[in-house]
Amino acid sequence: MRAMILDAPGESLRVAETSVPEPDAGQVLLRVHCCGVCRTDLHVVDGELPDPKSPLIPGHQIVGTAEKIGEHAGRFSVGDRVGVPWLGWTDGECRYCLSGRENLCDNARFTGYQIDGGYAEYAVADGRFCFPIPEGFPVLQAAPLLCAGLIGYRSLRFAGDGERLGLYGFGASAHIVAQVAVHEGRRVFAFTSPNDEEAQEFARELGAEWVGSSEEAPPEELDTAIIFAPVGALVPAALRAVARGGTVVCAGIHMSDIPSFPYEILWGERSVRSVANLTRQDGHEFLALAPEVPVRTEVIPFALEEANEALDALRSGHIRGAAVLVVDSP
Ligand SMILES: [Zn+2]
Ligand SMILES: [Zn+2]
Repeated sequence: MRAMILDAPGESLRVAETSVPEPDAGQVLLRVHCCGVCRTDLHVVDGELPDPKSPLIPGHQIVGTAEKIGEHAGRFSVGDRVGVPWLGWTDGECRYCLSGRENLCDNARFTGYQIDGGYAEYAVADGRFCFPIPEGFPVLQAAPLLCAGLIGYRSLRFAGDGERLGLYGFGASAHIVAQVAVHEGRRVFAFTSPNDEEAQEFARELGAEWVGSSEEAPPEELDTAIIFAPVGALVPAALRAVARGGTVVCAGIHMSDIPSFPYEILWGERSVRSVANLTRQDGHEFLALAPEVPVRTEVIPFALEEANEALDALRSGHIRGAAVLVVDSP
């Protein structure tokens, strides 16, 4: 099969011919249709996350068709449309797993990081951590739901029920969260890089009532905010924008250092928290909700061999919506 392989962090991916993996017990072999490109892939490729598998096939928003089912992986049948997310395996027995917080598992393994992912024609995945793709959802549009959507959804839940929601960084996640938030009757305030008119226009189209630069103050206080951009300086900026009792959620896996800030902007029961990974419960809830909204993802397709170009485009902020590698048409 064709695959894009990372030999060492900091290098470009190379096109390779490699053997199709065999599903072990509990695993499903998927013929990959497409795989979303996530900012986390950039962090893996750039060496900002420790100890990736090496060599590695990146990619953790995989949509494929089940082609072979390993022993005891009976949840799926050959021909099913299957989605594979970031959380690829947990031990099921640590204090986190046993308290409904498998996203924090001591021994969790992640797709496209410690497990080969979906930048390839085939992938194997533990069937217990895969999701059925919602009926009728086009495969390309489904890929960004699997991380951008899921992490966005978890972040929105942790942001609480506040009506006035700030979104810092209007990329793949925010473009999905904005649609869910508007569906829930919230008011969306979108912050982008200064002068990023394309992203601002995009946010407006998706229902943001105010758009501006992350260096600006919003026209009124926010109740809650989610930071998607990996920029630590946005934490004090968002704290200044939220009202007393407000929450600032950091949704990314990696962020530059947070500058020191005066206690008074945290005072008044404001809180800052991060969101890490996802639970399978998040996946089931969000994939049921997405067709109801309905979430319409905007996708920029790239060929599998163009993975490096897709990553570069994401790095430079030139993606409106979500980049997706198209491997084959179902
Ligand atoms: Zn665990
Ligand atoms: Zn991701």
